Amino acid sequence: MSIETYYVAVVGAGPAGMFAARELARNGVRVVIFNRDIKPGGLAEYGIYPDKLAMKQGLRTQFQQVLETPGLTYCGNINIGSQGDLTIDDLRALGFQAILVTAGAQGTKWLSLPGEYLKGVYHAKGLVYHYNQLPPYSKEKYRFGRQVAVVGAGNVMLDIARYMIQRVKVDEVIAVVRRGPAEVKFDKKEMEYIIANLDLRAFNEEIARVAPAMQSIGQEVEAAKAVILEALPKSQPTSSLTRFRFEFLTSPVEILSDENDHVIGIEVEDNTLALQDGEVKARGAGNRRTIKVDSVVFAIGDKVDDSIGLPTAGSEFSKNLHPRYPVDGISYEAFDPETSRLIEDVFYAGWSRQASTGLVGYARKDGTNGSKAVYQYLQTLTPYVPDEAALIARLKKLGKPVVTQQDVRKLVEIEAEEAKKRGLEWFKFGSNEEMLERIMSIG
Ligand SMILES: Cc1cc2nc3c(=O)[nH]c(=O)nc-3n(C[C@H](O)[C@H](O)[C@H](O)COP(=O)(O)OP(=O)(O)OC[C@H]3O[C@@H](n4cnc5c(N)ncnc54)[C@H](O)[C@@H]3O)c2cc1C
Repeated sequence: MSIETYYVAVVGAGPAGMFAARELARNGVRVVIFNRDIKPGGLAEYGIYPDKLAMKQGLRTQFQQVLETPGLTYCGNINIGSQGDLTIDDLRALGFQAILVTAGAQGTKWLSLPGEYLKGVYHAKGLVYHYNQLPPYSKEKYRFGRQVAVVGAGNVMLDIARYMIQRVKVDEVIAVVRRGPAEVKFDKKEMEYIIANLDLRAFNEEIARVAPAMQSIGQEVEAAKAVILEALPKSQPTSSLTRFRFEFLTSPVEILSDENDHVIGIEVEDNTLALQDGEVKARGAGNRRTIKVDSVVFAIGDKVDDSIGLPTAGSEFSKNLHPRYPVDGISYEAFDPETSRLIEDVFYAGWSRQASTGLVGYARKDGTNGSKAVYQYLQTLTPYVPDEAALIARLKKLGKPVVTQQDVRKLVEIEAEEAKKRGLEWFKFGSNEEMLERIMSIG
């Protein structure tokens, strides 16, 4: 029976999109999720460190439950974008009354340094997608060498360091941190996984080296050091001999290479610290030196993907700064700075609203709140009977498999069986072709 309802497209099936879609569907909205990947989960599936098995499994179970919500349709393997399978305008033409973009932050931030194009220079996102088996990143080849610099000071930097220490087992991992020990952004819990590999002598020496700069802005050196070392009592045992150390107050300025374009080091500039409007800033001190490394991984955050075809400003999509439907004072609404007009029917949530911000719990809450903003907007419109046949026909015309919620359930079962057969804790197919073939093979 045809029922009059509101009709909403959610772009992306990470934590933000999944919980947004559920909230809308529970309010009687017909929701279609379009997801680039075959599987839902986004960075919960393909970003969170693979050894966090219980957390990942718990989230997978929750996502499975979300997909069972009545009124919700999942279309995996469908990319939305100006060059994608469907554009934002295609979604409008299909009758969607609002589009909630929860596509995460798929763009990569670079520092525009000479040498960033070299073999052996990587961005954290590609690497975490690789070790979490997201096609096509799963098939990419990496060349790390013996010494690796990881640029960044957050949990993603620690995840990369953990991978290098525990899986690749390089000789040395150097965390290159722009500001000082008091400004690191990682959590104690994440440090516990690798603190056994921290070279404590080098750490003490490094703290002594940067102490004058810290003291110059009134920072307590011992307190900052103690916060980082708080992870020591719960240090996880290690079988890796990798040496892990920090270079604080250090900014990369160039990546150096040999005649084959292979990385041989990074030239860095030392920084001092300054207080500006109550914020601690790094200022170049003018002197340069070289750190010998064989590869460099940038873990400096992400930016949103402008190929989706919506206006961006810096790392973010442009948002309406005077929201009509704020939730907790936050704007979820799209804005076009070129025309100075609202994009009435487009909303952002999760990492698409604010790139690289917050853990899964935060993305979930942001998705739910974003859906509340969408729901307020829907109240200004008239419900109608969505033309679902038109959607089916349009998807068929794409000539590619569209993954349904039943397919996702099958795939989860197939991969669990494979893991059991192979005696592994988890197993994932590394290509879309294998996933699709196995789904189709069981009808
Ligand atoms: C390396 C790393 C480790 C992390 N570890 C933890 C952790 O241990 N614990 C924790 O709580 N949080 C962790 N997080 C944070 C957590 O993963 C994020 O908070 C959360 O996943 C963000 O959710 P999201 O839905 O906004 O975006 P995402 O999770 O990025 O989901 C985006 C979705 O959009 C889809 N998509 C992208 N582009 C398109 C498009 N054009 N068309 C259609 N679909 C598209 C993607 O396929 C994906 O499904 C980690 C993050 C990273 C990067």
